[in-house]
Amino acid sequence: MRRALVVGNWKMNGTRDSIQALLRGLVPAVSHGINGVDIVVCPPFPYLALVAETIKGCEIVLGAQNVSCEEKGAFTGEISPGMLVDCRARYVILGHSERRQQMAETDELIARKFVAAQQAGLIPILCVGETLAQRDNGSAQATVAAQVSAVLTLAGVTALERAVIAYEPVWAIGTGKSATAQQAQQMHAGIRELIAGHDAEVAGAIQLLYGGSVSSANAAELFEQADIDGGLVGGASLDASAFIEICNSVS
Ligand code: PEP
Repeated sequence: MRRALVVGNWKMNGTRDSIQALLRGLVPAVSHGINGVDIVVCPPFPYLALVAETIKGCEIVLGAQNVSCEEKGAFTGEISPGMLVDCRARYVILGHSERRQQMAETDELIARKFVAAQQAGLIPILCVGETLAQRDNGSAQATVAAQVSAVLTLAGVTALERAVIAYEPVWAIGTGKSATAQQAQQMHAGIRELIAGHDAEVAGAIQLLYGGSVSSANAAELFEQADIDGGLVGGASLDASAFIEICNSVS
């Protein structure tokens, strides 16, 4: 039985004041958890310590939005997996389409980050998804399969026992235009089938999240699909009541 998981990706948003205000809304509502739903928030790096301190003793878990594939050394501006663990992060988002597109992150680099993150004890949340052009030209499934396969090739299928995959169609991120529940379910089933080709048990156990304009209005229908185990939520995770409503939609 897979547990449900909802992850808030705060992206490059927030100040000390706004993050404290957001947590004042979230922490009391989530302090004892929400009906078997695991909840993770991923603030920008400078606020990891503040968030770690504020969520202490509450059921919210800390994540980060990116990590280096290097362990330490002369990599100015980079953050190592060990540093994230030291800041009490347990999850890390990898391969978000904004990083694939704006920072030219390749499947191979993301796979290396995946391995480095796991070696340090982090749980990677591997983001995959096709662009609108790829959906329109019929290559959506192949694109997502290649993104997952890059990690399978480098890390091996058993590495997915300690990982999460988030299917996020690029055309749905931040656009207000979510994939339909059927489109999302179809891709999630395809990802599970691809993994099952390597190991059926791992495929049955891995949490697959949907991301892309998830809101309190569409979350319930998305989350009730057989292969959708929760969501990766961007914009709506910056609003405490919307995020809580989304978390409640899972149960
Ligand atoms: C995201 O940032 O991963 C995301 C899905 O954003 P949004 O919910 O705003 O579309």
